[in-house]
Amino acid sequence: MQLHPIPVFTDNYIWVLHDQRRALVVDPGEAGQVLQWLEHKGLELDTILITHHHADHTGGVAELRQATGARVIGPAREPMPEPLRRVSAHDRVEALGLVFEVLEVPGHTAGHIAYHCTDVDGAPLLFCGDTLFSGGCGRLFEGTPAQMLDSLTRLSALPDATRVCCTHEYTLSNLKFAQAVEPGNAALAEYTAHCQQQRALNFPTLPSSIGLEKKINPFLRTRETAVRRAAIAHAPHTPDDDVSLFATLREWKNDFR
Ligand SMILES: [Zn+2]
Ligand SMILES: [Zn+2]
Repeated sequence: MQLHPIPVFTDNYIWVLHDQRRALVVDPGEAGQVLQWLEHKGLELDTILITHHHADHTGGVAELRQATGARVIGPAREPMPEPLRRVSAHDRVEALGLVFEVLEVPGHTAGHIAYHCTDVDGAPLLFCGDTLFSGGCGRLFEGTPAQMLDSLTRLSALPDATRVCCTHEYTLSNLKFAQAVEPGNAALAEYTAHCQQQRALNFPTLPSSIGLEKKINPFLRTRETAVRRAAIAHAPHTPDDDVSLFATLREWKNDFR
């Protein structure tokens, strides 16, 4: 199996997974570059997976379906380009001989889902849309801090080796914020240097992994003393509970430049 991110728009990736013959794509915000890439590689599009309703994740679905006949799978509770198969928690999606489990991860949007496969050539794989980013998490457009924290907590319980395929290249700006939260985190400093090199060469910083994110992503580290102290130093009236600390961290990031 091969995994490849097609960069589109300013900072989106359309992830493609293929077996040299058939392909699946995730969150195609546009169709032209996907069709071009599939043709270049001689691949047939089998399946389109969608994580949530935002246009930069769904804008290419209708054209891709029409051009390739691919089936479309998306979240049960979001406005979606019909027709499609709608899936929710614990549903299984079979594609390219793999089985993906559907996880409901509300927060960024109310019906956001993710797709997790326990074994793609020996390692788990996660397509998480705009829920978990490397070094950060999605903005709370429709969900509550409690929902997003719960979603991220369940994602962080996946095996450390899980490759994390996020939809945006936000890593460097996320890491700038992460360093403001945890200036003493050595793993974070090392990862930042690595990502700066990658971006200087115009390479993606993704996929990340769950094991790495647990070491460097402040939104998965709200139980860490250093993260709690930083959140309370930033907003001294934050109550000392997990959801309030997470909410403070998310609001702090919204205003961070
Ligand atoms: Zn989104
Ligand atoms: Zn997006």
